[in-house]
Amino acid sequence: MFIGFLGLGNMGGPMALNLLKAGHQLIVFDLSADAMARAVEAGASAADSPVAVARAPVELIITMLPAAIHVRQVYLGSQGLLNHVRPGVMLIDSSTIDPMSAREVAKAAQEHGNPMLDAPVSGGTGGAAAGTLTFMVGGSAADFDRAQPILATMGKNIVHCGDSGNGQVAKVANNMLLGISMIGVAEAMSLGVSLGMDPSVLAGVINTSSGRCWSSDTYNPYPGVLENAPASRGYSGGFGTDLMLKDLGLATEAAKQIRQPVILGALAQQLYQRFSADGHGGLDFSAIIQTYLRQQP
Ligand code: NAD
Repeated sequence: MFIGFLGLGNMGGPMALNLLKAGHQLIVFDLSADAMARAVEAGASAADSPVAVARAPVELIITMLPAAIHVRQVYLGSQGLLNHVRPGVMLIDSSTIDPMSAREVAKAAQEHGNPMLDAPVSGGTGGAAAGTLTFMVGGSAADFDRAQPILATMGKNIVHCGDSGNGQVAKVANNMLLGISMIGVAEAMSLGVSLGMDPSVLAGVINTSSGRCWSSDTYNPYPGVLENAPASRGYSGGFGTDLMLKDLGLATEAAKQIRQPVILGALAQQLYQRFSADGHGGLDFSAIIQTYLRQQP
């Protein structure tokens, strides 16, 4: 299939490479010359603007952009996709943005005659490179069925979450829980160690007991407990504190719009915000445990 791809960053770059590897033809655009050069070297053709992608004879356009402001600009701006793409071309936005913006852009696309899906991902840069992402997809069932084989070249779990925006709803709800659960594990591990327990023994008990969760058994924040977790390599790589802060901001903002209380989500947001303000925004989010540890282990 001939596919347009915009946004070739940490996630979009490897996702585009997986489409090329699967034999698809790509025309790509990114503001970064380096990102463009990597995709062209891998076999994509270069466009010099979103308009050039929209005017190419593509059947599908995928975007993987930082935030809602970029998504609005790329789709709705005067030099954006919707002003130039021909009706019928399918549009998929995989950026993580708020559900309301996703619904607004999808509505504008549909009014222009373009089916659109929101399809944010989880799985991080490792999952993007390995082609094992989870896609949480919002849009009609028929459009989901059409897009499924393409998404399956970049991901392992492709889940239809319901109508437009529901992919983003699933994403913000999951990541809000992740942000909260990581703080819970950090608090429990710090308490147990301060009271005299060995961190690995404590983690082993939690992971076979009712406190077990992904933050404790796959991504434990205590250094040395899990060899492959960011905690055991100085909290480098992984999922940055500032990205978690962004997702908690999306959750609390969406909650505010519908007057839904998210008490622990808001508290978690503030804790990561303080940690980021203290200069740690680039560390993996599990480093939040540093705000609890009495002495560095
Ligand atoms: P990134 O900043 O590495 O990449 C974004 C890319 O978009 C950059 O290359 C940038 O130059 C490009 N861009 C910005 N504005 C543009 C425009 N107007 N036209 C064309 N290109 C433009 O970000 P990322 O880590 O790849 O994340 C992308 C999205 O995926 C974000 O919404 C993020 O929240 C989400 N996400 C990231 C991760 C992760 O672990 N990095 C995991 C899941 C979801």
